[in-house]
Amino acid sequence: MLRVDLRELAHGKAIQTHGELKQDDPALERAGVALQEPVVVDGKFQSIGEDRYYWQGTASTVVRGECRRCLTPVATPLRLEIGALFTQDADALDDPDSYPVAPEATEIDVTPAIREELVLAAPQYVLCRDDCKGFCPQCGKDLNAGPCDCKPVAVDARWQPLKALKDKLRS
Ligand SMILES: [Zn+2]
Ligand SMILES: [Zn+2]
Repeated sequence: MLRVDLRELAHGKAIQTHGELKQDDPALERAGVALQEPVVVDGKFQSIGEDRYYWQGTASTVVRGECRRCLTPVATPLRLEIGALFTQDADALDDPDSYPVAPEATEIDVTPAIREELVLAAPQYVLCRDDCKGFCPQCGKDLNAGPCDCKPVAVDARWQPLKALKDKLRS
């Protein structure tokens, strides 16, 4: 369960939370994060003052992406350490790690905090390997599998002096 009853928390005891976010979590999908596995969540809720509740835990999953150069599927394992404050205190809500609790709430759900941290941590651009050669811009061949027969694109004559200078600097 990723929800806890506020009355239980108010008595000052820590409450363990274990649970999962589904692999096809719709809010994560809308945010552009594709998962290869469900998110495994483990943590502990604690009351740390009047109407202030702190959740500390971990969220682990594998994010699915594509190499930005060759489109090979790339899996990125993530393990996040998360600390989130849940409160009705408007001042404390300026902190990006704080989440609102509705005045009439009887329970808190840690799911929004986990989603937010995952969206922030998910890599925007991945490569299948650092030296991925990608596709040939002319014939579309995957250059990781070997060179193609395309001739280098003709360089505009106006840039020839610049190219000559660059070649000189490189040699
Ligand atoms: Zn690649
Ligand atoms: Zn080519």
